[in-house]
Amino acid sequence: MSVVVDHLAELTGFRDRDVMDVTLVTALRDLLSGPVAVAIYRCVGEPGEQRWLTRARLNVADAVATADSLWVDPETLPRLADHPRRLECLTQRSVLQQREGSEWITTFPLATEREIVGVLELHSARRLNAEAQRMVASVLRIYHNFQGLLDYSERDTLTGLLNRKTFDESFLKAVSELPLRAQTLACQDRRHVGVHPRYWLGVIDIDNFKSINDRFGHLIGDEVLLLLSRLMRSSFRFNDLLYRFGGEEFVVLMRCEDEADAAHAFERFRLNTEEYAFPQVGRLTVSIGFTQIRAGDSPAAAFERADKAVYHAKGAGRNQVQSHATLVAQGSMIEARQLSDVELF
Ligand code: GH3
Ligand code: MG
Ligand code: MG
Repeated sequence: MSVVVDHLAELTGFRDRDVMDVTLVTALRDLLSGPVAVAIYRCVGEPGEQRWLTRARLNVADAVATADSLWVDPETLPRLADHPRRLECLTQRSVLQQREGSEWITTFPLATEREIVGVLELHSARRLNAEAQRMVASVLRIYHNFQGLLDYSERDTLTGLLNRKTFDESFLKAVSELPLRAQTLACQDRRHVGVHPRYWLGVIDIDNFKSINDRFGHLIGDEVLLLLSRLMRSSFRFNDLLYRFGGEEFVVLMRCEDEADAAHAFERFRLNTEEYAFPQVGRLTVSIGFTQIRAGDSPAAAFERADKAVYHAKGAGRNQVQSHATLVAQGSMIEARQLSDVELF
């Protein structure tokens, strides 16, 4: 019993989801008797295009868990249909147990309040008995409740995007690529993103949003913010970090190879917004500024550069994407000295 409690204490001792998933598979392997392999797979991407992301996988002989990189190229991940057993567990929303060769595979659905988001898969030499299944289900309930608490503290209640409070932490984590306790699977991301990853920060500000509130009221204004956040989710990749920074200002942190790719991603979102018919409100546009994140950058300094590019976009007629580096190179903007966090936040 105390072993179970120890594992639960460890599981809920982290506020970092990557570490939590690794801790969960490690805990379950230790708690179940006999040699078992445990893995967590999440569905990522847009409906119709969804893929399996390995969040943590611990094989029988593994000392440490492996996982897909945070910045893996989604196109390299297997499609949902490539793993019919996991897919069946997702759609049936219930535990499945099957024999495959010499081992038993038990698949548990992983849910949030609203939807099934992935599966937990256990490979064991013997069939998992009812007691073991109950134990796994209980641990998953605790995991699920704790994830809910994390969401509550890290996400904006209106849009479900990350909130400003979490920006600094995830900025520094993403940029420094702190090694997790999991090892990256075959460094597959490197092949696709290049040896030296580059990160970009974009600030998105709705054009003339005040007039939407004035004409249609705050409730409709809020609905616009919600719909825009959905457009963001469908326009950017699942692993781009999306924030609502307050009011009608949004931030995107992404990793891609060069400035043209980043500009293309922001331009795609700008266009998707321009073309979207918002109920009652009709059309609206956004202005976007972006900058490359530099070695030793502070979150505040990077934000400041992107925000200046937004300001420039507003002055130049709105509904456009501006790159800070391009503006400086053109002489349209002067590079400011770096501001400290204290000055800005
Ligand atoms: P610009 O094109 O220059 O960005 O013009 P704007 O009207 O969008 O900019 P401004 O910063 O003047 O106004 C932002 C408005 O956003 C002010 C406020 O009415 C509205 N706003 C801020 N937060 C919220 C919110 O949570 N909900 C709603 N409905 N409106 C908000
Ligand atoms: Mg604004
Ligand atoms: Mg605005």
